[in-house]
Amino acid sequence: MNHYAFDCPGDAIAALAEPLTPVDVEHDCGNLLGRVLAGPIIADRDNPAADVSAMDGYAIAMRRPVESSELHCNDEIPVTGESIPGSPAPDFADFGVIRIFTGGMVPAGCDRVIQREYTIETPAAKSPPLGTIRWRAEAKLTRPADNIRGRAENIGAGEQALSSGVVVRGPQAGVIASFGLTTATVHRLVRVAIITTGDELDDVNHTSNESLPPWKIRNSNAPTLQSLMATRPYVASPTMLHVPDDPEHLQKAVLDAIAAHDIVILTGGVSMGDHDYVPAITAAIGAKTIFHKLPLRPGKPILGAIYQDADTSTAKPIVGLPGNPVSATMGAVRFALPLIDKLAGVMHWQATPQSVMLDEIGPKILHLHWMRAVRMSGPGRAELVVGKGSGDLVSLGASDGFIEMPPNANHPGPWPFFSW
Ligand code: AMP
Ligand code: MG
Repeated sequence: MNHYAFDCPGDAIAALAEPLTPVDVEHDCGNLLGRVLAGPIIADRDNPAADVSAMDGYAIAMRRPVESSELHCNDEIPVTGESIPGSPAPDFADFGVIRIFTGGMVPAGCDRVIQREYTIETPAAKSPPLGTIRWRAEAKLTRPADNIRGRAENIGAGEQALSSGVVVRGPQAGVIASFGLTTATVHRLVRVAIITTGDELDDVNHTSNESLPPWKIRNSNAPTLQSLMATRPYVASPTMLHVPDDPEHLQKAVLDAIAAHDIVILTGGVSMGDHDYVPAITAAIGAKTIFHKLPLRPGKPILGAIYQDADTSTAKPIVGLPGNPVSATMGAVRFALPLIDKLAGVMHWQATPQSVMLDEIGPKILHLHWMRAVRMSGPGRAELVVGKGSGDLVSLGASDGFIEMPPNANHPGPWPFFSW
């Protein structure tokens, strides 16, 4: 009998994400970089705002139907004006050409720009003052609209330039500025609480090995998860807590954290041991367990629950990751980050990761979904980083991310790749 609530991680994540809605919006956000748009960006003007030249060259008008033979290579054609970027276009005179520079407005009546390289230029003489040109043979190959960026060809005034759910990065910041905006409506930052648990963890933060007894370990999950959150610019600096294996203390910590944050991520205490209090505590505070245990390695004991916050009428996920550092790290990337993306309002929160082919699959076949650390070995290729198990964080340090293979997979891929 199948004793898992879900057969695969993707379905478990989808079920946990299902009740989540994006966090509130803020208006007038000054620094938009890394923020998630909560409304569309509308073009306030045509882009380009006029027909402009894509080249340095000469704007001309051809009679129609166009005969390439109209461009006689021996004709001396007067340059009757110049169209310089930042200035209005000069008038076009039928008998001549306009010298135009990249970004310059194409004068009314001109139907193409012929690049400078296709001309032989005679330097400016007294008459005509801007000189003359002759066409090279290549000029005959040009067609109507060549080298002209047509008015509104990118977007027309009033149209949507960016949709809500887009993360503002370099190009988007430029698009927003192009339409005269310095502020926008965005989702507020996502509030994340990270709670590490365990009596074995060093609560004094020893930095010298001598003073740390061997039955204590340093808390590596805290900085790992904190750093993973920093890959998401729309997440506020997470609240970091460490709680010993004490059910009362832990229950209060989880309740306080869930009230003040959008998601709570725990590490440790999620298995079946006598000191594993997370499953009972999530139930005790009234959260609905969506899954506890998945057919997954590492991270089989993982727990996902939804807390319905009565004050804000919002669903808040609780993700209980096993304490072993490899399970906690991979679990945070695989489970917590997509939920955070959805909470943040990111449109493509379920974006398909890249996929890679393994150089070698190794001898073992596993009857579980298998997250395996890999190092990129070439474009679209990766090699396994073999470690000693879910406690071997050191081997993870040599990896670029992990792949996820379905149960009984026996071929090198391609497999979805999740980078750190
Ligand atoms: P648990 O899931 O609570 O049974 O923890 C399993 C093991 O993971 C512990 O025995 C520790 O070795 C390790 N561990 C738990 N929490 C942390 C942490 N915050 N940082 C590093 N290792 C941890
Ligand atoms: Mg523990």
